[in-house]
Order: sequence, then structure tokens, then C-alpha cells
Amino acid sequence: MKNARLFFPVFCSVLALAAAAVCAAEDGQRVRPVKEEGAGPRIYLCTDLEAVAGVLDSVNWCLEGGRNYEEARHLLMGEINAAVAGFFDGGASEVTVLSGHGYQAMIPEELDERATMQRGYYPGIWPCRIDRGYDAFALIGQHAKAGTPYGHLTHTGSMDVIDRRINGLSIGEYGQGALCAKECGIPTIFASGDAALCDEAEALTPGVVTVAVKFGLDPDDGCREMTKEEYRRAKTSVVTLAPKAARKKIYAGAKEAVERLINSPESFTYADNLEPPYVLETEYRPTEHGGEIRKERKEHPTSFSAVLGM
Ligand SMILES: [Zn+2]
Repeated sequence: MKNARLFFPVFCSVLALAAAAVCAAEDGQRVRPVKEEGAGPRIYLCTDLEAVAGVLDSVNWCLEGGRNYEEARHLLMGEINAAVAGFFDGGASEVTVLSGHGYQAMIPEELDERATMQRGYYPGIWPCRIDRGYDAFALIGQHAKAGTPYGHLTHTGSMDVIDRRINGLSIGEYGQGALCAKECGIPTIFASGDAALCDEAEALTPGVVTVAVKFGLDPDDGCREMTKEEYRRAKTSVVTLAPKAARKKIYAGAKEAVERLINSPESFTYADNLEPPYVLETEYRPTEHGGEIRKERKEHPTSFSAVLGM
């Protein structure tokens, strides 16, 4: 491991022991300044676009070429910078921001100059390119998992997925990222997005600071008969905070999360009881309405992040 963890060694070693023996991100390929002794925590911030305040639907706002896509990117940067400011004011020494939305929604020129930005897929790191060099994981703009009632633009990786389960536990993108962080021995401390995502986060990672910036209005029974494109348009009813109000809440939540990480790291926990081997099962939407549901099963003997990358 390239960067020794100096922060919260007791807490992190407990987590690391509890986690699976393999952390896919422990590949030593990174080049990063070594953290100075006594410096504040390093935060890894994963971003998504659908659950940013003011983003209203997928087709116009979240797909490259959509008529509101550029506006959505600016809204995302506003929330990122609010979180970055909160993290630093809370005591963080470093914030790396992952451009996590599939269409590279981040605008580098607009990023708070104290933060760094990450993009790209290199082998063995899935889904969020977390590694043990960070002290905490956080998410912004994150939507609830596929099939969540009263979530907004709910999906899991793709609108194509009906549900994804790891050893029987249904997880969304939040769970995918958080459980990779767990496997790396680091806590998940902050999440913002729609209200249903906040519920999802608090259930899987008790203690996480959540900030709801919108809430969905559509019920959802799984919509198993819908195609990918039908589901994309099925969860668009929403009430959203004004972007400026959302940023204030995100700043305050991010600051609180880092302050608590410093003063009470044991307050961030993982509620799952997952043990290897890891069996990942995914159901995919039919290609025509009411058609056949496709199923996929993957298994890895030791690593959660590895099974996600298979
Ligand atoms: Zn997403």
C-alpha cells in the first residue's frame, strides 16, 4: 500500500479486519502526495447527476445532447463546490471529486481550486475508484435504487436494471459505492440526493449525514413490465429545492460530516452482514413491454468490489 493511513488507525483497522481481505483499489498504481502527519481527513466524493436539485428528468437533463444537459452540469458544479467547501471548513485536508455520471458531467473550470478531480476507468477498480488512501467516502447528486417508490429518476447503474442483489440484499448505486468503501476499510459519511436515497443511505450506513434536495412523487412497484426507455420516463414527477437552498444544506451537512468524522468516527457504521463468497444477482428489463426479464448471476470468493467488476 502506497499511502499509510495515519488517520483514525484504530477505527479503520477494525473496519479493515471486518471487511473482506481484498480491496480492489489496493493496486499501488496511484501517485498521490503522502499525507502529512496530523493533517485532516481525505475525502473521496462520488458524484451523480440525476439527484441534483433542479434536475427534472433524464431525457432532457441527464443525457448528453439533452436540451437542459449543460444547465444540469452547472447545477451539479454548484452542489459539488458547496460540499467541497463544507468538507474543508469541517477540517478535511483533501477532497477528490469523481466525475461519476456516465456522460462526464463535471466542468473542470468551475471546480473549487482546493479540490482535485478524478475520471477514468482503470483495471480492477469498481465502481468508484476508492482506495485506502482516503479516510472517508461521500456521495452527491445520488438517486435512489431502481424500484424505490417516491424516488426521483430511480435506477441502478442503468435504467435497464430492475433490481440488483448482493447475497440477497438489494442495493443501488449508493450501496455499490458504500460497500466498496467498506471493503477498503473506510466509512461512508455523507450523501445528498432525493429523499428516498436518504432513507436508503441511512438504512445501509447508519450515522451517515444525509441531505435531501428533492423528493419524487411517483409510486413504483418495480415496474417489471417496463422497458428501459419506459422506466426512464416513469419516475420524473418531483418537488425540488431551489438550487441555492440545496447548496446551503449541502454545505452544512458536509461540514457536519467531517467534524463528526474527526470527533466521533465510530458513529459511522455499516448495517449489512455480508460475508464472502459474494453472489451478485441482477434482473434486467424486457426489451419490449411485458417481455422476458433477463437474469444474471456472478460470484466471487472473496471480494465485493471484484464481483461488481466481473
Ligand atoms: Zn446514477
